[in-house]
Amino acid sequence: MTIYQPLADKALRRETPTRDELCAVLSGSDDDLMDLVAAAFRVRLRYFGRRVKLNYLVNMKSGLCPEDCFYCSQRLGSEAEIVKYTWLKPDQTREVVDQGVRAGASRVCLVASGRGPTDRDVDRLAPTIEGIKKEHPGVEVCACLGLLSQGQAERLREAGVDAYNHNLNTSEERYADICTTHEFADRVDTVEQAKHAGLSPCSGLIAGMREGDDDLIDALFALRELGPDSVPVNFLMPFEGTPLEGTWELTPQRCLRILAAARFVFPDVEVRLAGGREIHLRTLQPLALHIVNSLFLGDYLTSEGQAGKADLEMIADAGFEVQGAGEPTLPRERHDLLRPRRRGAGTALPPNA
Ligand code: SF4
Repeated sequence: MTIYQPLADKALRRETPTRDELCAVLSGSDDDLMDLVAAAFRVRLRYFGRRVKLNYLVNMKSGLCPEDCFYCSQRLGSEAEIVKYTWLKPDQTREVVDQGVRAGASRVCLVASGRGPTDRDVDRLAPTIEGIKKEHPGVEVCACLGLLSQGQAERLREAGVDAYNHNLNTSEERYADICTTHEFADRVDTVEQAKHAGLSPCSGLIAGMREGDDDLIDALFALRELGPDSVPVNFLMPFEGTPLEGTWELTPQRCLRILAAARFVFPDVEVRLAGGREIHLRTLQPLALHIVNSLFLGDYLTSEGQAGKADLEMIADAGFEVQGAGEPTLPRERHDLLRPRRRGAGTALPPNA
């Protein structure tokens, strides 16, 4: 008897797993991998049914970044052979967005390399966002522009942006091992700014960067504290010409364990299968759909993804369905939000004031 079904029961009660439980998930034997997937599937099924949300990335500004994130092909000094360009024009962005939406995406993620946007960049983006919202009213727009300065999150919200992505990537303890030009706290601060401005916070991690299980667990707990609405789980794409080149430490089984750990920590939150799924999960990708409820369709920022048609076939073959634009990601029954009062008048506890 494994701990996986009791862990699923806990997740169904929206109780956070302990560090020991997550260690057991991450270090378990491959002999009981299917038990783990089945347990995570119970949780996925309860909160998200068989829906798969499709997200579409648009790299609006590629390469030429002054930051030195070791995992990134766009970093300062990167010798990776990637396409490099400065800001796409609004009609170029909208053209790419149209293609993603036509293919079934219900969220488009507008990404730009760099430490963070200038106020001019934010202003420049506003008409693009307004145009996208006008043409595709049900589609969510997520911006991913790096570290935000005061007031920029509010400005993006006013322009019509729905969500903001900024990943924590790894544990606070290991952060200096993967980047020296900014700190973990800077990332936390940006996610909090986005959240306070009313943007839906999206923040996740990258696995496979020589971290230990404790780092992954720390990163998941740190994310949990931030209360994101969506959690992308990336698997390192070790580009030649970056400091992490040659780091191929993930197996498909390890990837499934990491996804299951994320699902137990975020039972009713969108867990997204993100970059690196094709190269690390390979033929086990359909199994991952039993754990996650969201994925990126199409290409990544600087690398090519699986063909969109193959993704749609994989989703259908595995018995899942693409979530339509405008459909809520969360189930309607949010019992957790309806809490009977147990304090104040008529009780022995002080009131909420
Ligand atoms: S992750 Fe972002 S900030 Fe870091 S090097 Fe890449 S583009 Fe620059």
